[in-house]
Amino acid sequence: MKPVSACILTIGNELLFGETIDTNAAFIAQQLTAAGVKIARKATLPDTIATIAQVVKNQEEDICIITGGLGPTDDDLTRQALARAFNTRLFPNQRQAKRIEAFFKRFKRPMAQSNYVQALVPQGFAALDNDFGTAPMLFRKKPFICVLPGVPREARNLMTSAVLPLVQSHFRLTPIVHKEIKTTGIGESSLFDRIKDIAVPASITLAYLPEISGVVVRLSGRNTKAIVPLRNKIRARLREYIYGRRGDTLESVIQRIFIRKKLTLALAESCTGGLIASKLVAVPGSSRYFLGSVVCYSNALKIKMAGVPKRVIQRYGAVSEETALAMTQGIRRKTGAGVALSVTGIAGPGGGTKKKPVGTVCIACVSGHKRIVEKIQLFGGRSAIQERAAYTALNFIRKSVQ
Ligand code: ATP
Repeated sequence: MKPVSACILTIGNELLFGETIDTNAAFIAQQLTAAGVKIARKATLPDTIATIAQVVKNQEEDICIITGGLGPTDDDLTRQALARAFNTRLFPNQRQAKRIEAFFKRFKRPMAQSNYVQALVPQGFAALDNDFGTAPMLFRKKPFICVLPGVPREARNLMTSAVLPLVQSHFRLTPIVHKEIKTTGIGESSLFDRIKDIAVPASITLAYLPEISGVVVRLSGRNTKAIVPLRNKIRARLREYIYGRRGDTLESVIQRIFIRKKLTLALAESCTGGLIASKLVAVPGSSRYFLGSVVCYSNALKIKMAGVPKRVIQRYGAVSEETALAMTQGIRRKTGAGVALSVTGIAGPGGGTKKKPVGTVCIACVSGHKRIVEKIQLFGGRSAIQERAAYTALNFIRKSVQ
């Protein structure tokens, strides 16, 4: 069966010039894709009647979603363009005019005369109430067209509250199912090498999505029965690198394990400057296991706050496995945490040496009698090194308790 197709048109010169990032198209595409619609085309058009009218007139897809250009000013021309495309005129809609008046009254703001323009509707279109702003949403059945205001908050709200229900009631859709295998600690190419011989049925799309925290393997298709066995096969090949599934993050997985095992965690961070702690506390409920992090950037603070013996730093240097381990042991002793981790490294751009170049990072994690101490070499600019160090450290925490 031919999939239901859609085109997304976002309108506005500011989008074309790159001044505003087109977030509406991405949101609409995600929503439609999840509902089972195939996005055939996305385009950004200028605020020009002729261009918009021509593209709308030549619509080939089953569904067309348009955002932008429904405002009250002279450069908002989508309404006129729709009238031109269907060779018709704009008519005032009393109900919408009253709703816009009430909207201004509710917020105790004066209504400008120009706002009545927003109650003009091209013949053949229905004007649907927009509870989030002034411009109504415009809807036409044949061809199926939904026109939303450009303001992202309004576009998103209308998309979920009005457009999706309309799409679902007019078309027979089979939603696409996504399954994800979230991995960390393995590069994209090594991961690919491990699973490349596994046969993928034509009905399933396999995608490799590298993120700074790791690589996500995504399986998408309309047939759940075919996806699950394939996912299990891939999982078996990647076992030690997998930390979760769709919706999981390293931070949320760590939280889940720590709470389940009734463990506590403390950190001593040098080159990450609190980044690891910040990621952990971004997950609601982190106070149930996370005691805190000491940012000990200078040697003096490593000694004072993390209890590192002075001689360890003098002998091995601040960026060394020995200092990292001493920081971990010190912070664990001082806080009484069940698990402790520390990071010390050179984030750059200065400070590197031949023996310890920029990107040298030492991480130590101690949990019960388990101990992971590693010196790793990271690449990228300062913030990329800090991010990578933070995610590597999070993975060490996960490995030490899983
Ligand atoms: P309004 O009634 O507020 O004038 P409108 O339908 O005319 O709404 P625009 O004037 O095109 O919408 O845009 C309103 C705001 O939303 C602007 O700040 C614009 O930059 C932003 N915007 C428009 N389209 C998009 C988009 N596709 N993605 C993100 N932001 C957008």
